[in-house]
Amino acid sequence: MKYLGAHVSAAGGVENAPGNAQKIGATCFALFTKNQRQWQAKPLSDKNINNFKVNCGTLGFGPGQILAHDSYLINLGHPEKAALEKSRLAFIDEMQRCHQLGIAMLNFHPGSTLKKIGMDDCLATIAQSINIAHQKVPDVIAVIENTAGQGSNVGFDFEQIKAIIDQVEDQSRTGVCIDTCHAFAAGYDFVTREGYERTWDLFDSIIGFKNLKGMHLNDAKKQINSRVDRHESIGKGQIGLGAFQKIMEDKRLDHIPMILETPNDSLWAREISLLTSMIKS
Ligand SMILES: [Zn+2]
Ligand SMILES: [Zn+2]
Repeated sequence: MKYLGAHVSAAGGVENAPGNAQKIGATCFALFTKNQRQWQAKPLSDKNINNFKVNCGTLGFGPGQILAHDSYLINLGHPEKAALEKSRLAFIDEMQRCHQLGIAMLNFHPGSTLKKIGMDDCLATIAQSINIAHQKVPDVIAVIENTAGQGSNVGFDFEQIKAIIDQVEDQSRTGVCIDTCHAFAAGYDFVTREGYERTWDLFDSIIGFKNLKGMHLNDAKKQINSRVDRHESIGKGQIGLGAFQKIMEDKRLDHIPMILETPNDSLWAREISLLTSMIKS
């Protein structure tokens, strides 16, 4: 069973996201629970919360089919104390919003050194940020997304992600989301059969499939190992349809939200039906 969906709009209120997902034929979705480009957000109202839950129930989106995404402003590995504190508070708020909405998983980009601290320090700071959030908010799983390694972003190889998880106290509440565009930009091949198998063998030996809580399905504008985060529509980039075919046939990737973050949202319905047609039952 594959869940396929997209990062849909929550304009007008989070309660609109499930309907937007249903319109494109999605069986899972991602959303921002607040404006992703602002620090401050109005608290969720009881109406937002109740309607979100009712709409998810009516349209058949269970907790395993919803992956919230945090704000782009948050850097849980920030090298400066005041800015780190601001990011941690914002992340706790994001986690709290998920908890209120009954969302089980919060996806985030691990963080950046801003070239002011070393990689290991940054990864340790991120783990500590997760620990703090876990103490403040129950239940919600912190889902670490692999990055393209653009600029000073960390978390672009599996070892770095593993180093974060290793320093988290409650590892039952961590997970990983693999973005195909980011992995490809960071040098992981999905295109050749050997490359595809090697990428997932590495993933399994370093992180483990049990930690895979979601995927972002994006083709890539730039070539492998470009370290550039530029998404492309499925089949129109450097990764290509053959790789997505292998992903759709791969049973190890079942039962997790697979989310499109491709640039042309008018193609999402077609991309979902194309990917669905590739699944072999
Ligand atoms: Zn992504
Ligand atoms: Zn990206």
